[in-house]
Amino acid sequence: MEVSKKCNKPELSAGTLPRPDRTGCPPVEEVTMAASTQSVHGALREHLNECRHCFEEYRDAQKKLEYDQFFRRSSWGLYFVLFAIACHLIIKSCHAHG
Ligand SMILES: [Zn+2]
Repeated sequence: MEVSKKCNKPELSAGTLPRPDRTGCPPVEEVTMAASTQSVHGALREHLNECRHCFEEYRDAQKKLEYDQFFRRSSWGLYFVLFAIACHLIIKSCHAHG
């Protein structure tokens, strides 16, 4: 039975420093804003590279934005299809009644 397990550090691509108390973190709004404008600059960029919490917030915000955009686009497509079907049915019923 394997008892002695060497320290298994998880491989982190970003934010290798755990900051449970999140001291020195920018406000969440700033991170979310950066994700929406897709421009991370200067200090915030550096912070995202070293703070896993903020990096995850940034990534989550980006994912959410992408999802929102996709959903909005597909719902417009759905409205268009429904509109087309409605028009088709109206025209068809007009023709049917002569
Ligand atoms: Zn942070």
